[in-house]
Amino acid sequence: MRELLRKELQPRYAHYGHFYDRDGSVLDTGIALFFSSPHSFTGEDVLELHAHGSPVLLDLLLRRVLDLGARLARPGEFSERAFLNDKIDLAQAEAIADLIESTTEQAARSAQRSLQGEFSTRIHQLVEDLIELRQYVEASIDFVDEDIDFLSEGRIAEKLSDLRATLRHIRHSARQGCLLREGMTVVIVGRPNAGKSSLLNRLAEREAAIVTEIAGTTRDTLREHIQIDGMPLHLVDTAGLRESEDVVEREGIRRARDEIHKADRLLLLIDDSSPEEGEALLSSLPAEIPVTRVYNKIDLTGKPAGFVEDRRGPAVYLSAKTGEGIVHLKTHLKTSMGYDSEADDIFIARRRHLDALSRAESFIESAESQLKIRAAELVAEDLREAQTALSEITGEFTSEDLLSRIFSSFCIGK
Ligand code: GDP
Ligand code: ZN
Repeated sequence: MRELLRKELQPRYAHYGHFYDRDGSVLDTGIALFFSSPHSFTGEDVLELHAHGSPVLLDLLLRRVLDLGARLARPGEFSERAFLNDKIDLAQAEAIADLIESTTEQAARSAQRSLQGEFSTRIHQLVEDLIELRQYVEASIDFVDEDIDFLSEGRIAEKLSDLRATLRHIRHSARQGCLLREGMTVVIVGRPNAGKSSLLNRLAEREAAIVTEIAGTTRDTLREHIQIDGMPLHLVDTAGLRESEDVVEREGIRRARDEIHKADRLLLLIDDSSPEEGEALLSSLPAEIPVTRVYNKIDLTGKPAGFVEDRRGPAVYLSAKTGEGIVHLKTHLKTSMGYDSEADDIFIARRRHLDALSRAESFIESAESQLKIRAAELVAEDLREAQTALSEITGEFTSEDLLSRIFSSFCIGK
């Protein structure tokens, strides 16, 4: 890099100067920062160049640096190196990607909390407790012939039940974090003219979809990303479901059916002036996806706004036109997903974390039942398995394959 900068760099000092091209001409003037190993993000020697933000210039500079022997980073390579050099653990590395991709302020704050190590610290604490308990149980196996019976003491049972409670609490926070990261997909379905597009516009607080009194206006699916108190929601408006001879409309209806299967929840929009027609669609929707019936146009029928739940499931009465009752729908969407906007200890999490946490939880439960029948070896084995599951979160136990899957999903240069 001497050829590029023509000066010695002192570590961690901002050096202002020229960046030189091969022929000695000045490519740009900017700041060079050198971080010497291990005092850098990756733990390796790092040189940072700050240049003017022109794409052409940056491209020239990049080519010059590549000429000098550098190569482009793979996606996630900086984070991967930081992980491999023990600068951060796996959950923190993932939080970097989640921070960059966060779509709401709450998601960004939670990702920051994970990046700072809050999630990892709790996992480490659990692992410590598990190790201590394992040692205790394993000692009891060795002392089996002597007078003291460790297992019959209440201590282990009590410890196990504490562990399970802690795990459950962490899983709750992690689930919230997972919701923040992924959001939920809500698909609006119903008969033509029920007011689907009006509801989408009302929730999105803008005129995203075309609304007319002509049935069959929405022919393609339309997506809007909104948030309710920080919970990201992917809203999808679909073509009204009916028999149609129109080729375009039929294609729209086919797409609507596709979207329905990808939904976390369906809103079945029903015109409250003639509810039977809309309600009839209920039986045609897939049974495995939860449905909320939304009775619209209460400004015409005079019904009170509100939320009710009956044997057919939850229902909301509202008017997409006036906005009355929308708040009931929003609250319902939040609670049905178990989103708690008041919780302040949420850290960003992924499905693989949730999966590891619930596996650990079932191993603890199993250990509790083995303890009841005094099967010390099996208790020890379950504790070991629980520890392994938890260690996958922070990356102490991982496969090559998992690592490459995680880091390849990062964006370039992170
Ligand atoms: P979609 O076909 O289900 O998407 O329905 P639209 O949103 O296009 O609405 C169809 C018609 O119903 C339009 O004329 C809307 O103005 C009207 N509409 C929608 N929601 C309401 C409502 O809450 N009250 C009243 N009075 N009219 C509504
Ligand atoms: Zn529509």
